[in-house]
Amino acid sequence: MSNIVAIVGRPNVGKSTLFNRLTKSREAIVEETAGVTRDRHYGKAEWNGKEFSLIDTGGYIKGSDDVFELEIRKQVQIAIDESEALLFVVDVMEGVTEFDKDVAKIIRKSKKHVFLVANKADNGERAGYAGEFYQLGLGEVYAVSAINGSGTGEFLDDLVKVLPEIEEEVIEERVPKIAVVGRPNVGKSSFINALLNEDRNIVTDVAGTTRDAINTRYKGFGYDFYLIDTAGIRKKSKVHEDLEFYSVMRSLRVIENADVCILMLDATQGIEAQDMQIVKVIQSNKKGLMVLVNKWDLVEKDHKTSLEYEKIIKEKLKPFDDVHIVFISTINKQRIFKAVETAMAVYENRARRIPTRKLNEFIQATIDKYPPPALKGKFVKIKYVTQLPTYIPQFAFFCNLPQYVSESYKRYLENQLREHFDFTGVHIDIIFRKK
Ligand code: GDP
Ligand code: GDP
Repeated sequence: MSNIVAIVGRPNVGKSTLFNRLTKSREAIVEETAGVTRDRHYGKAEWNGKEFSLIDTGGYIKGSDDVFELEIRKQVQIAIDESEALLFVVDVMEGVTEFDKDVAKIIRKSKKHVFLVANKADNGERAGYAGEFYQLGLGEVYAVSAINGSGTGEFLDDLVKVLPEIEEEVIEERVPKIAVVGRPNVGKSSFINALLNEDRNIVTDVAGTTRDAINTRYKGFGYDFYLIDTAGIRKKSKVHEDLEFYSVMRSLRVIENADVCILMLDATQGIEAQDMQIVKVIQSNKKGLMVLVNKWDLVEKDHKTSLEYEKIIKEKLKPFDDVHIVFISTINKQRIFKAVETAMAVYENRARRIPTRKLNEFIQATIDKYPPPALKGKFVKIKYVTQLPTYIPQFAFFCNLPQYVSESYKRYLENQLREHFDFTGVHIDIIFRKK
């Protein structure tokens, strides 16, 4: 399950300021853990204990002023289809514009929860101007100031009320969920079809969490997992294919619902900015990742080609480059099962538990070899380490002065853990706590 909230509205009304304010506390936590790339347009927010994903659609608008309005209209439509709730931001200092009326018309037709946020209401007088937005016919108008935070509490109270509860799954019942994501035309559907036709062991075809995302239960060759893909969505909205925003938006839900994401690339194109957007979403959700380079049949190659190719991809993924890369040809059915095997290995890595004794023996040796360097004359003494009972690998190090442990030392410990135990494709949290 996921809770996606999209921020829409004209340029300069304050969407990105609002986005930053709402994701701030969470971002601080994320930043603490090394290796997570921050994305200014997509992040996690939390209010009253309820977590949701927030996407600033303005971050995906490209082009000159005259194409803005058309682009925004398309985005609003996509956001309506793909999110749980919409924040429609307007500017109290500008008042109601013709364009706001246009957007309101599109939104009124949808059945989604909409919050009309009248921004830049920095003081009482300005908040008074918000009244004029009632004419948009979208119900309650929330006068807020993204800059100083006033009014945001009331609005967040109401927002989280309409978001569904995300229930924690019971660990025993978990079947791995593998998502196939990537740009249009890299071969995602071909891959999934090749996999499913190869074999008669598909047991169920259940509807996914959205009407179009397809979850297929796959059983066979010792595997049992769900394949999550967006094939249905694609057919439905062919017109949006070219929009970067669209491909990001439609991968969001799939990624949030997966354990491991297979990022598929087209061998003739390599890894590009749009792929990195998807990688960022995968990382900020701390999902497992592997890279599948498809259409390998189209590449002229010798014995070094795949190694060189791998190096280029890893360079882009840095610092998160402890990732499996598999080269396949869907058309020739080459290494398709190797791909599945690797995705399942990443799943195993993500679920890996290191017994406390083994972990401490290893860490003690690691620290003896290279103790934490003194910071501002303070010496850090690490007493012991334990892996927390969480879904993803998190290691809590207990020590005397957690605040004096440098990022580079955390990275050292992470790298040592990665070298010694297999965590390829998986995000690791290194947490320091006071004993
Ligand atoms: P976006 O294009 O919709 O993402 O808008 P931005 O977040 O980039 O904001 C546009 C401008 O409005 C910036 O100069 C912000 O500092 C300013 N701004 C945003 N929120 C507020 C607010 O609550 N009050 C005031 N006075 N200015 C704001
Ligand atoms: P999707 O948009 O990512 O689902 O991509 P499709 O599965 O629709 O594939 C896009 C195009 O790439 C189609 O014309 C496929 O036939 C072609 N294609 C897919 N896999 C391969 C492959 O391994 N080799 C070659 N040469 N073409 C492929």
